[in-house]
Amino acid sequence: MFFNHSDTLDNIQKLVDLVANAKHTYAITGAGISTNAGIPDLRHLASSDSGSLSSESYLEANPTEFYNDFHRLFIDPIFHNGPTKSHYALAELEKQGKLAGVITTNVDYLHELAGSQQVADIWRSLNVNHCLTCGRIYDIKILNQSVPRCPECGGLISPDPVYHHIGIDENAYAKANSWMAVADLVIVIGSNGYYGNVLPGVTVVNINNRRNDFDARADLIIRSDSDAAITTLIENLN
Ligand SMILES: [Zn+2]
Repeated sequence: MFFNHSDTLDNIQKLVDLVANAKHTYAITGAGISTNAGIPDLRHLASSDSGSLSSESYLEANPTEFYNDFHRLFIDPIFHNGPTKSHYALAELEKQGKLAGVITTNVDYLHELAGSQQVADIWRSLNVNHCLTCGRIYDIKILNQSVPRCPECGGLISPDPVYHHIGIDENAYAKANSWMAVADLVIVIGSNGYYGNVLPGVTVVNINNRRNDFDARADLIIRSDSDAAITTLIENLN
């Protein structure tokens, strides 16, 4: 395993010790965990020249154009590349009883596809999709067609994060906050969101290639690609 900094391995060993000793470990993940699957940061979409992918009116007026871009940016990477090593490693940690849950600002549903059971998709996910005509709801598999249509009525399908204009899912948000109330260790992976909800006194580890807000709050910073860091964590925990 190659790391840019010689002290990165030492820091991962510190993370191993923290995870081994924590009672309630949670992960907060963001765009950085999915970039190895080729999925861009959602926030870049607003400034993209590909039309607005967070607008249902744009979807209704330009379904072919919308789904061309949506396939290129999200659906194709999800179905072709799938979850990253980090997603699988977090699912494995949960299975081993060493991770209580994942809070994510990503909408790509890759944590669940990797096998994680306890996930709070606070910005909703692509596993919930609405028929704009009859209101029926379909899971992520409905998106695996060029312009997804409702099998019952033929209506246009809108992915939930678009349908709700990328707003917060109140249930998932409440669940995430209840997790933070009991957390004693939080591992932040490629995320800059949900920052203000980590309570004082909780040990925070920030895994990110670049500086971000969590550096100021972190007890331990691991400047690394998340796949390398998390897979090394798993290898050293066992
Ligand atoms: Zn329908």
